[in-house]
Amino acid sequence: MATEATSLSPVVHVKNVQFHYPRDGFVLRDINLQLPPGSFTVILGPNGSGKSTLIRLLCGLLVPDAGAVELDSLPLHTFSARRRGRTIAFLSQNEPGHLPYSVFDLVMMGRFPYQGFWPFDSQSDIRTVYQAMERVSVAHLKNRYISELSGGERQRAYLARALAQTPRILLLDEPASNLDLAHQIELYQLLHQFNCEEQMTIVTVSHEINLATRYSSQIVLMKDGTIAHAGNPQSALTETNLDEIYQVKMLVIEDPETGQQYFFPKMK
Ligand code: ADP
Ligand code: MG
Repeated sequence: MATEATSLSPVVHVKNVQFHYPRDGFVLRDINLQLPPGSFTVILGPNGSGKSTLIRLLCGLLVPDAGAVELDSLPLHTFSARRRGRTIAFLSQNEPGHLPYSVFDLVMMGRFPYQGFWPFDSQSDIRTVYQAMERVSVAHLKNRYISELSGGERQRAYLARALAQTPRILLLDEPASNLDLAHQIELYQLLHQFNCEEQMTIVTVSHEINLATRYSSQIVLMKDGTIAHAGNPQSALTETNLDEIYQVKMLVIEDPETGQQYFFPKMK
């Protein structure tokens, strides 16, 4: 059940982007991508193909060498950090697990883009923080330290921090990689809810092919620093394309009830 991409102009437009890290041979090249408002994009690809680099370019942490990442038709790097933080929330691959903060304090950090130089928690900030914690079921953990949470609880606490930013765009880098199966499903269902109920534009890097793509409207397949294939799940997510990017033969099974296709790597 993919969210329909609307005909409105894309909220994010990546135009002919090139990027390289100083002191590293890796190059991201010829990246063209559009994120329509309310779309749900999943980025797949082998380790080292450039997925995290691309998502860091999408949230403005990295700036392209050439080409542009545009937000609402303006270059993203011209936005102030505050303005970016009000629009885009990013959950990175390695959020720290041993911060000396409570869940409440962590989620309140999501309000920084709305506060002055000396952070002052207004009634509206506090209300938003509670709403965010309740949305992902961590309100009962509000006084717990981050280091005292299970992997699933910690991931939900970070998700609450992202929600407290009240973003239009939510970017996630392998958000489910440390979660068990039930928590992975729960996480992607939460993302689906944000996408459907708030028309939040979502981009997630993932290795959970079958779970992450369940609710997606756009798939991006990366290989060697380029987008090898992109499109809707029906056209981009094929046995041949997956074989090409992962160099692994895939077994495709179709659910007779729903027609949904599932992909499994074949083992020799
Ligand atoms: P993926 O997320 O698909 O595994 P990355 O975007 O993290 O890939 O990395 C792509 C390439 O860029 C890798 O070869 C990696 O070593 C290199 N790289 C990643 N981050 C940095 C960095 N901060 N400085 C230098 N090279 C980096
Ligand atoms: Mg990565």
